[in-house]
Amino acid sequence: MTPHFDLVIIGSGAGGGTLAHALAGSGAKILVVERGDFIPQEEENWSPEAVWRDLRYRADEWWVDGATGERFRPYTHYCVGGNTKFWGSVLLRLRPEDFLVLDLDGQILAGEGEFSREGAVHMACYHAFADAGCVFHAHPLNVMPFVSLVSAAKLTV
Ligand SMILES: Cc1cc2nc3c(=O)[nH]c(=O)nc-3n(C[C@H](O)[C@H](O)[C@H](O)COP(=O)(O)OP(=O)(O)OC[C@H]3O[C@@H](n4cnc5c(N)ncnc54)[C@H](O)[C@@H]3O)c2cc1C
Repeated sequence: MTPHFDLVIIGSGAGGGTLAHALAGSGAKILVVERGDFIPQEEENWSPEAVWRDLRYRADEWWVDGATGERFRPYTHYCVGGNTKFWGSVLLRLRPEDFLVLDLDGQILAGEGEFSREGAVHMACYHAFADAGCVFHAHPLNVMPFVSLVSAAKLTV
């Protein structure tokens, strides 16, 4: 029988891992797909030389620069926890007051700090799409197809 899942999360880094954690109690049947293995617990974990000089845990593969055609070793890690295990050395925890509540004119109703300089883009989305429930603002290249699909679906999420 083909297994059925309500949600398939690809990757177990900060993005996938936290999503899986947040939805774990939802009752949804969730599959997390991770291409890497667990980082072995070993002495080298604690060695800056092993991790950063010898790149012991870096992906052992070559990529090709689409612009120049040059081959290069990507600075990426495939493992449970993802690149987050290596790059997320400073993970700031946001407080509730770090999230601003605004009206559609951009006036801050609650929270501390200033609205992002890119806030106008979000406001423009809300004004352009009356049924938009939220705006996800993402830059990673590998997220762009998803963003394009959502745009094509006239931002119905
Ligand atoms: C140099 C550098 C320094 C940084 N420093 C900080 C910092 O100090 N503080 C901070 O907060 N952030 C920092 N960041 C950013 C932070 O590391 C990333 O934003 C975060 O780790 C991204 O999380 P992610 O879940 O999107 O991706 P990742 O953590 O990369 O997770 C992606 C996962 O997907 C898996 N995967 C990939 N392809 C497939 C596939 N085909 N099938 C299944 N699984 C797959 C990978 O193995 C990996 O586990 C830094 C980033 C860089 C590059």
